[in-house]
Amino acid sequence: MKLIVTGGAGFIGSNFVRYWLKHHPEDRVLNLDALTYAGNPASLADIADLPNYRFVQGDIADAEAMNALFGEFRPDLVVNFAAESHNSRAVVDPTLFFRTNVMGTQTLLEAARKYPVRRFHHISTCEVFGDLDLDSPEMFREDSPYRPNTPYNASKASADLVVHAYHKTFHLPVTISNCANNYGPYQFPEKIIPLFITLLMNDRPMTLYRQSLNRREWLHVEDHCRAIDLILEKGREGQMYNVGSGIEKSIEEIADLLLEALDKPRELKTYVDDRPGHDRRYLLDSSKIRKELGWAPTIDFDSGIRNTIQWYIENRTWWKALLQRNALDEGEWGDFKGPHPWKSGP
Ligand code: NAD
Repeated sequence: MKLIVTGGAGFIGSNFVRYWLKHHPEDRVLNLDALTYAGNPASLADIADLPNYRFVQGDIADAEAMNALFGEFRPDLVVNFAAESHNSRAVVDPTLFFRTNVMGTQTLLEAARKYPVRRFHHISTCEVFGDLDLDSPEMFREDSPYRPNTPYNASKASADLVVHAYHKTFHLPVTISNCANNYGPYQFPEKIIPLFITLLMNDRPMTLYRQSLNRREWLHVEDHCRAIDLILEKGREGQMYNVGSGIEKSIEEIADLLLEALDKPRELKTYVDDRPGHDRRYLLDSSKIRKELGWAPTIDFDSGIRNTIQWYIENRTWWKALLQRNALDEGEWGDFKGPHPWKSGP
C-alpha cells in the first residue's frame, strides 16, 4: 500500500508516520509537509533513511504541485494532518488558517479525485462542535451540530463540510476522525503540556488563563494513531468517528500535576487574561468507534503524562531548537504586557 501523509513533520503526523512504518513495514509512506514553523524534520530523524519512507516539502494548497505529486506517486491512501493548528495564532492571523485548513484540504480532495484513491482520511477535531458548560451532562456525538467559536475551529469545521461534500457529490471514499486533545512526544512547545513542562524544567513561570478551570479531554497520541489505523482498515466510507478517552482534566489540574511531578514550587503558576473566544469544555461521545471498530484507548493518563514528561527531559536538544520559532504573546489581547515566557531565550 502507498500512503501520502500530509503534515507528517508536525506533532501527530510524525507520530503517525513512525507508527505506520512500524506496524505496516511493507507499505510506502510519502510525507508531504510545507515545514512551517510547526514542521520539524528532526521529529523523524530516526526513520529518515528507511527505503520505504520519502519526504517531500510542499504546500497542500498548491494545486499544481499536489496534482503532480499524486500523479507521480499514485497513493492508495491519503491521511490529511496538515493544518495550522494553534488556536491562539488563529486569533492573530485567521486568513492563514482558512487558506491552509479549508483551501488546502479542498486542493487535496481535487487531486484525489483526479488520481483516485482507496481512502481519503481527514483529521479533524472535537473543537468543531463548539463548547460545553463546565457542569453540562452532554457529550458531543458525531451527529451533534457544528458550532465552532474560534477561527481555528471554524476553519476545521469548514474543511469537514468540504470533505463530506466531496463524498456526497463525487463519491470520493472519505472518512473523518474528530479527536480530543492529544499529548505525547514531539509536540511543539507552544501547546499547553509541552510548554508548561519545558518552562518548569527551566524554573520559569507557567502562565495560565484566568479561566483555567476550563477542561479538556486528553488522549495519548499513540492511541489516536491506532484509531486512525482502524478507521482506514474497517471504517465505513462517508462516516465520521469521534476519538476520545473520556479523561477530562482542567488546565489548573494539569499545572498542579506537572508542578508535583517535576517537584517545583507553586509560585511558578501565574495568570493572564483569557484568549477571546476561549472554549470552556469539550467532551466527545466515542461509543461509535468503540462499538463499530473495537477501538479503546490503552494508555492511562497518569502513566502517559509521566512518560511524556520523561521524554521532554531526555530530548532537550529536540525542543530547545524550536523555542525561538515565532513565539506568540498569549497576553496580546489582554492586560498582560510581558513577553512570551520563552522570548528571552532558554
Ligand atoms: P502541528 O501544528 O504540530 O502540525 C501541523 C503540520 O502541518 C506541520 O508539520 C506543518 O508544517 C504542516 N503544514 C502546515 N501548513 C501546511 C501546508 N499548507 N501544506 C503542508 N503542510 C502544512 O499540528 P498537530 O497538533 O500535529 O495536528 C495535526 C492535525 O490534527 C491538525 O489537522 C489538527 O487540526 C488535528 N488535531 C490536533 C489535535 C491536537 O491535540 N494536537 C487534536 C485534534 C485534532
